[in-house]
Amino acid sequence: MADRFFPNDMPDFIPETPLEEPSAERAGYSLTKLLSLPYKTLSERLQQAALDLKETVVRETWGSNGERVKDYTLYTGALGTAFLLFKAYQVTNNKNDLDLCSEIVKACDSASRGSRRVTFICGQAGVYALGAVVAKHCGDQQLCDHYLTEFEQIKLPKDLPDELLYGRSGFLWACSFLNKNIGKKTISSTKMRAVVDEVIKNGWQLGRGRCPLMYEWHGKRYWGDAHGLAGILHVLMDMELKRDEVEDVKGTLQYMIKNRFPSGNYPSSEGSESDCLVQWCHGASGVALTLAKAAKVFGSEEFLRAAVDAGEVVWNRGLLKRVGLCHGISGNTYVFFSLYRLTGKVEFLYRAKAFACFLNDRAQVLISEGIMHGGDRPYSLFEGLGGMAYLFLDLIEPSEARFPGYEL
Ligand SMILES: [Zn+2]
Repeated sequence: MADRFFPNDMPDFIPETPLEEPSAERAGYSLTKLLSLPYKTLSERLQQAALDLKETVVRETWGSNGERVKDYTLYTGALGTAFLLFKAYQVTNNKNDLDLCSEIVKACDSASRGSRRVTFICGQAGVYALGAVVAKHCGDQQLCDHYLTEFEQIKLPKDLPDELLYGRSGFLWACSFLNKNIGKKTISSTKMRAVVDEVIKNGWQLGRGRCPLMYEWHGKRYWGDAHGLAGILHVLMDMELKRDEVEDVKGTLQYMIKNRFPSGNYPSSEGSESDCLVQWCHGASGVALTLAKAAKVFGSEEFLRAAVDAGEVVWNRGLLKRVGLCHGISGNTYVFFSLYRLTGKVEFLYRAKAFACFLNDRAQVLISEGIMHGGDRPYSLFEGLGGMAYLFLDLIEPSEARFPGYEL
């Protein structure tokens, strides 16, 4: 499956060296040269690239349409642009970005009326949760309350799946996002507990002892972050769990580690023998983020080792021929940020930098040449250049970098 990704021929490590004379700085850089730049110089360069990209993303996804939002979601729609603008505001403090972000969320609010989707990434919970947090930053308490009221009124349909993009765990993530960014008890633990009960009960039903928790989406038992186990477990670890539930989360992760491929990669679904996907939605990348979180939450060496192993797969097979967060290089880069945060090891920061520099140096040229796929929604947050811009902004404070809409 070598054609899914570029072979990673970047050196295992390049030390940073001081800048040469200013003329060289202007002369353009090869990838190796980029990687040897002092961190601050590099991250400032990427910040500028990110802010330029942000302008393009806004123009392409919002500028021409104005308030006529067709796709309101964070995943491929206008809310993704709003999320990018909010990030840009947090980095540069540019109030224009915050104002435009707020305007876009309002349009998403209108566009999402009548939608039955309830998650952060693909549904109304994302609109209301981000809306409340942005309103708080704008100092508009009335608007903040409006969004919180709307959030409280979301009804979870009985036939909801449990996965992240459309299911219960995607709703729970939005609750955690609010509690982190607005205040601890914004969404009550009673309300969240009722949803957690459902998720755990469903997991037990399908697990049936072989693996403590198991879930299904459209008839398939997925393992990845978007539709499967890794994503659900990731969210559950932010909940107040009972002791046996904690053991089941650990046991499920141990089951996954035990049944990974000999290559170190993870199947995209239960029983799959196809060892080809290394991306956030399916395979080692998404599982690595969940393992890294488990290593932190449980203080576990076992999960730390497994997270590092999964990170190795991402380093070798993660330079995908796509740029996005969901199944592209930008998403894979967050694995290294996560391992860096967990271990403090500069080799992981280097790897994050290397993937980001590869994108900065080559992605747009490779897309224009048709060698890389630009994404079905080429400017969106999860499939396109929006995600790449977000990633570049996260390089400024790498220990604070979080996979957007997924890591808290
Ligand atoms: Zn994907």
